[in-house]
Amino acid sequence: MRKVTLINGDGIGPEISDAVVKIIDASGLKIDWDVQTAGEDVITKEGVPLPERVLNSIKKNKIALKAPVTTPIGKGFRSVNVQLRKELDLYANLRPCKNLPNVKTRFDNVDIVVVRENTEDLYAGIERQADEDTAESIKIITRKASERICKFAFDYAVNNGRSEVCVVTKANIMKLSDGLFLDCYRKVAEQYPQIKKREILVDNLCMQLVQKPEQFDVLVLPNLYGDIVSDLCAGLIGGLGVAQGANIGTDCAVFEPVHGSAPDIKGQNKANPTALLLSAIEMLRYMKEFLYAEKIEKALFKTLAGGICTADLGGNASTTEFRDAVISNL
Ligand code: ATP
Repeated sequence: MRKVTLINGDGIGPEISDAVVKIIDASGLKIDWDVQTAGEDVITKEGVPLPERVLNSIKKNKIALKAPVTTPIGKGFRSVNVQLRKELDLYANLRPCKNLPNVKTRFDNVDIVVVRENTEDLYAGIERQADEDTAESIKIITRKASERICKFAFDYAVNNGRSEVCVVTKANIMKLSDGLFLDCYRKVAEQYPQIKKREILVDNLCMQLVQKPEQFDVLVLPNLYGDIVSDLCAGLIGGLGVAQGANIGTDCAVFEPVHGSAPDIKGQNKANPTALLLSAIEMLRYMKEFLYAEKIEKALFKTLAGGICTADLGGNASTTEFRDAVISNL
């Protein structure tokens, strides 16, 4: 039986992961969940929000499903999410954004995959106060990280039947840093004659996304633009309750929803498990469990199409009612 690390998280994490585990179990797929606690609740016992045992479990199992984890602000802890990405070298952030049945949005033909570089750019955290009135942040773009993310995007396109990979930069202004990213894209692109190429500036992309999002397929971006554009794309398909994500490296992959731990609705049986469920479905595809991924996705779509959804999507189903509806549609 395949072993997968499960981080239940905190806030609404335990409620939505319980729903997702029960749905996967009901599909007939047997997974040996290696449950690991992390976040606020483990600090008192273990001193840190991300104990070594969690990292060791992911390194061993190579794959994890992660519900949102809160990093307490102002207590001197590094963000659990950033630490996971760094320690496991999860260099690619993948965010598929596709319209869901019955989830009303301004557009109904969005099917975009955002591939964001996860390790450098302005996130390298190199900042200094040059003088009292001047602060500087250094944007790092390397050939190694840029080539590997572009290769990831093209491989994803090939393996998932996508036809175009569009690179997003501001290379007209940042001629050296974004220029290098663009250069790497062009070089990698030559190895994929079957995939269409496109280059766009990030400002133009944003305008086009809110006017004609259906024209985009796979987008590949440096870290900061990727962060902003992936939230924009999440908004196009209905917001946080339905936005899935994954952080993928050479050895390990962590699948997680975009949303946080939503402490305002914690323990109220109100949270929408869809984003975590979609992340789990993508995880099953990564594990090559295509039949189960398809089966669960169909049941989820049927549930939504039948008008059953949680309050964030305008419905009145509780987390557990939604879970049970998906299970009965399997
Ligand atoms: P963080 O800093 O951890 O990202 P946050 O408060 O900025 O936390 P979220 O926790 O994602 O962001 O919550 C933002 C809003 O969206 C909250 O009002 C929350 O209740 C709502 N929300 C987030 N996820 C869900 C979900 N799965 N189901 C229903 N509502 C959600």
